Amino acid sequence: MKTPDYDLIAVGGGSGGLAAINRAASYGAKCLIVERDPVMGGTCVNRGCVPKKAMWYAANMAHGIHDAKSYGFDVEPSKFDWPTFVAKREHYISNINNYYVRSLSTASVESVHGLARLIDANTIQVGDTQYSAERIILAPGGEPVVPDIPGAEFASTSDDFFNMTEQPARVLVLGAGYIAVELAGMLKALGSQVTLGVRTDRFLRQFDDMLYEHLAQSMQDQGLKIETGFSAASIEKTDEGLFTVGEAGQRLGAFDAIIFAIGRRPLTADLGLEKAGVTYNDRGYIPVDKFQQTNVPSIFAIGDVTGQAELTPVAVAAGRRLADRIYDQQEGRHLDYSNIATVVFSHPPIGTIGLSEAEAREQYGDDIKVYNTSFTPMYATFTEHKTKTAMKLIVQGENEKIVGCHLIGLDADEMMQGFAVAIRMGATKRDFDDTVAIHPTSAEELVTMR
Ligand code: FAD
Ligand code: NDP
Repeated sequence: MKTPDYDLIAVGGGSGGLAAINRAASYGAKCLIVERDPVMGGTCVNRGCVPKKAMWYAANMAHGIHDAKSYGFDVEPSKFDWPTFVAKREHYISNINNYYVRSLSTASVESVHGLARLIDANTIQVGDTQYSAERIILAPGGEPVVPDIPGAEFASTSDDFFNMTEQPARVLVLGAGYIAVELAGMLKALGSQVTLGVRTDRFLRQFDDMLYEHLAQSMQDQGLKIETGFSAASIEKTDEGLFTVGEAGQRLGAFDAIIFAIGRRPLTADLGLEKAGVTYNDRGYIPVDKFQQTNVPSIFAIGDVTGQAELTPVAVAAGRRLADRIYDQQEGRHLDYSNIATVVFSHPPIGTIGLSEAEAREQYGDDIKVYNTSFTPMYATFTEHKTKTAMKLIVQGENEKIVGCHLIGLDADEMMQGFAVAIRMGATKRDFDDTVAIHPTSAEELVTMR
């Protein structure tokens, strides 16, 4: 067999592909990365975490301006200048794109833009050119799901949301996960009239019930309308705007935008998996073992395409550990997918790690104890909206090991990371109790719960 062109090729220049290839190159591997978009960065940088967090900060600012009067400032809520802010946001993103180009070049990683397809277990094709490697990492990520209903072409997805140059005044967000909740909250804070349409009786079903209950209350207090039991069957465009009819016959409208946030699917259809013999499941995800190995020894998969905890730091961590193991001989190094902390950038934000109360009961029966607290944070004692903070600790066994920690409220997003370290290390309730509080903060409530 002829010597392959590269030691490693990464398909996909997003969070996972970039992290893996840069780490492998740092150990001296000869690397190529292929990205179908004209820019590097993938979902997180270009149409995910980064533009989303920028909008979330803007939305927080809107809440802050509203609250400022209660703190004695002579300010009136003013209209958000969407085009100006979006231009700044995109400028920031283009700086990140440029940074990736520079860092790949510094690391001596070659890059190609175009759609990559597998030809066999060691070869990909981009346009008319074939590239071979000893190993290939598949990190193509995913795309938003759009349902196959009449008029779906009039609706938008999160990708379209980040391309909107004008703020939609009347918006329907359909979905019940992270993206639906985050987009609905931001748009409302920035001045749109927002309805959140969920097909069951609640949203964020994958998390502890307490988080949903507090967020639903806060959203309603902010004037966001929640339409439960609504699943869109069709969408129509009229002179008044967009309308949608639900499966049960309800008609909602008029809206300037209807945004589907009903999940994502992996980008594996055009990847040539069959040609290389890579197995995928009925939803298109590529199963891997704990070393990110597919069923083909030379091919690995990381990030969203594996369907496990679809989060940027997960894709990054999986990619770096894979490179550490193979190119730095760190034997056995792999990502532990348990106890991954996550934040929902809602208003107020959610921070969560471990088992929900329902999951803990299913796993441990009565061998758990639940500590709850709900309070008005000091910040809100002065403001018109008394947005509450709520916390739940779920402990298991005689030594009260913490198996779940769920927070919602001001600063919950920044609180979670440090507690996640402790929980991963096996912290017990006693460890929390023995930690002297920082006062006055909201976080101190977590180490003083009874
Ligand atoms: P991606 O980042 O999607 O990268 C895959 C890349 O592969 C893409 O650039 C794609 O163009 C390219 N590609 C696909 N097929 C091919 C091919 N055949 N050839 C060449 N290139 C190809 N996660 C968080 O942790 N925090 C957040 O706050 C957060 N917010 C989000 C907000 C939104 C709106 C969305 C949609 C996602 C968010 N995520 C967040 C999730 C996060 O973006 C993903 O988990 C992460 O980007 C996954 O990384 P990845 O490398 O697997 O895929
Ligand atoms: P999610 O999987 O989080 O949520 C989608 C939800 O939509 C489902 O849970 C389901 O809820 C509902 N749904 C599914 N199909 C339909 C349908 N046909 N009609 C109506 N509702 C439907 O997906 P998202 O798109 O929100 O986000 C994708 C992933 O990206 C997330 O899982 C997360 O991993 C990542 N992400 C992370 C963020 C963060 O870290 N802050 C932010 C944004 C995304 P139900 O069954 O209850 O109806």
